[in-house]
Amino acid sequence: MNSGLHSARRAIGILGGTFDPIHYGHLRPAEEVRQALMLSELRLIPAGKPPHRGQPSTAARARADLVRAAVADDPNVTVDDRELYRDGPSYTLDTLSDLRSEMPDDALCLIVGRDSFFSLPSWYRWRELADLAHIVVTERPGTVREMPEALAEWMEGRLAHIPEALREKQAGRVFLMPVTPLAISATGIRRALATGRSVRGLMPEEARRRVVADGFYGYPQL
Ligand code: ATP
Repeated sequence: MNSGLHSARRAIGILGGTFDPIHYGHLRPAEEVRQALMLSELRLIPAGKPPHRGQPSTAARARADLVRAAVADDPNVTVDDRELYRDGPSYTLDTLSDLRSEMPDDALCLIVGRDSFFSLPSWYRWRELADLAHIVVTERPGTVREMPEALAEWMEGRLAHIPEALREKQAGRVFLMPVTPLAISATGIRRALATGRSVRGLMPEEARRRVVADGFYGYPQL
């Protein structure tokens, strides 16, 4: 094993989501992953038509604009809107395939909250995801269900115990990353806005201002 070679390999973090709207429950855990894994870049990928859930209440472009506004002043974060221009459902496998061909030598780290990770067996060709990327799972308060058995079996032998293990290969490992738990959800934010409650402190101020000014999700509030 050549550790010099491994440490030279770039690692890229990928956080996909509906982002309806983007909030600190997305951004802070991802930032903690970025630091712990020394990622060269954190890429946010808004879903066009998410296959696993009801259609988002906000048009894909408006959600992506909010994501851009939220991270505009963060030099480590980029927004990749490729899923918005793809026909059909936004399958993570297709996105990772594209990224893998663009970055053949980098370690790709797909970041998912624990709730999303537990739903992995319902994703399109889910077992193939790890051929393309590592999976980094962050804690998310409120995830009460048990890990599906198929997932637990699949995880065996893939589990990385230290972040450095993700640099040894470009893909294929699962890393459980402890992060500061933040009980923030997009559903909670939409609900608050619809009933005229404040969402200050739950999302970056620039994104909050736009949501309020444009009257997303309900009544504008001061
Ligand atoms: P909703 O509240 O409507 O379910 P959401 O914020 O969970 O929305 P997405 O925008 O699709 O939905 O989430 C994108 C990713 O961010 C997922 O992997 C999800 O697990 C993760 N995530 C969302 N909120 C949190 C949180 N508070 N803590 C950790 N991870 C989170």
